Amino acid sequence: MASIGKIRIISPETAGDIRKNQIIKQNIPEGHLTEKIMESALKGTPMIQIGSGNPKLMLIAGIHGDELPPQIAALKMVDNLVIRDVSGTVFIVPFAIPQATRKGSRRFEGFDMNRKASSGGSLSNKILKAIKNLKMSSAADFHATKPHSNPGVESIFCSKKPCYQSYEIAEYIKKATSSKIICHKVAGTLYSGALEDECNLSGVPAVTCEVVSQNNRLDPGSQERSYLQMEAYLEYFGVI
Ligand SMILES: [Zn+2]
Repeated sequence: MASIGKIRIISPETAGDIRKNQIIKQNIPEGHLTEKIMESALKGTPMIQIGSGNPKLMLIAGIHGDELPPQIAALKMVDNLVIRDVSGTVFIVPFAIPQATRKGSRRFEGFDMNRKASSGGSLSNKILKAIKNLKMSSAADFHATKPHSNPGVESIFCSKKPCYQSYEIAEYIKKATSSKIICHKVAGTLYSGALEDECNLSGVPAVTCEVVSQNNRLDPGSQERSYLQMEAYLEYFGVI
């Protein structure tokens, strides 16, 4: 069984009552651990540590509060990892912005947090700092995309420069899940401030994974698809 560390709070101003989001409430796993994570979200952005040693990986969900499948999948991942052997450390942020998840909002304080990771003091920048301070080996950010939007298909965003491993991780997840790869030559050239890009630019190989679901909904199979992407990501590093 993997050890579970104390739940850290990355940022207090995002605090919110996740249980007020009915879809989340009806679909999260029941149990003491879920309760504890919900309680901690009342204090801010929770980060759960499972296991110890290297590699150190971070899974993030809920940078967009209205994208529900990965947030539920992340909680299930916490539940499943604690009952098995984990070789290394997995840090999980199941709700990056509890307040936005409660409200079903894509934005926080008026901004898209996946364009703000390079702005000091923003929530996504605080997550980036935690990734750097804890010397993470890699990070993966999980989202859901509406059908017919951008990208609108189940996919993995990655880049080849400066971290070629970003692309290799994406290839592995593609083989395991058949999600489509969307690869940029250089991280952050299309727009700046995406958490994945800022990780790659800081030398921490990262990917963004998308499953298809309407906003504020849990389309059939979407949380399971998100879970599979998370699992493939951890398998790439031999952690599970
Ligand atoms: Zn998103």
